[in-house]
Amino acid sequence: MFIAANWKMNLDKRLILEFSNNLNDFKFSNQVEACIFPPMTYVDYLNQLVSKLPISVGGQNCHYKNFGAFTGEVSPKFLQDTGCEYVIVGHSERRTFNNENNNEIKLRAQSAVDTNLKVILCVGENLSDRKNGHASEFVEKQLLECLPNNFENSLIAYEPIWSIGTGRIPNYYEINEMHENIKKIILQTINKEIKVLYGGSVNLANINNILDIPNVDGVLVGGASLKAKDFLAIYTAAVKHLQKNHIT
Ligand code: PEP
Repeated sequence: MFIAANWKMNLDKRLILEFSNNLNDFKFSNQVEACIFPPMTYVDYLNQLVSKLPISVGGQNCHYKNFGAFTGEVSPKFLQDTGCEYVIVGHSERRTFNNENNNEIKLRAQSAVDTNLKVILCVGENLSDRKNGHASEFVEKQLLECLPNNFENSLIAYEPIWSIGTGRIPNYYEINEMHENIKKIILQTINKEIKVLYGGSVNLANINNILDIPNVDGVLVGGASLKAKDFLAIYTAAVKHLQKNHIT
């Protein structure tokens, strides 16, 4: 089970310190893996603050080159050098606001994998594709065009664009069907099973129902991960879910 917290461009140094102070007395489980993706400027800071906790820190994006004349970009090598284990690639906000297409996302994912970072590759349809019944087709195309080589240690996050930050989520069957399709495509492509996370308006009210969906292996949480109390409540829901289902 995996909990990813994408802070996006939120939380400054003071709030990050406050957040991490709230984690110190918490009893983490070795059944649930957690990774926080802070703003790039605070990756190193957060990494130092959580260094004694079983929490990984990751980058929200990386470039497809390790070095060079790319002003403002983030090198996967530097993320790794600063202690990151994971990197998110292909988030819909990068696709929309930074015009990252499948071709570029594949290059970014490949350079991350080549640098020994584990990638969380985001895919997901927009509302009109969902309404027209083209969601599976759209996500399959994204996957086939974005998957880098040697993806075995990485994860997929299914994040319907229309669900991110809106409070709307697909129903149980839609999420399960999409995760099942994603797993099938991955198995056919790399001959390995990998975790598929659900992302989009996950919160304390819906986390239990989402974790009960058979093909969901964890969640990617944005807004509801910004307060330590909520992040830990989501983490605890994952621990309880595993206990309830006797999964060790
Ligand atoms: C996200 O940004 O990946 C996300 C899922 O955001 P939210 O949980 O706020 O919808």
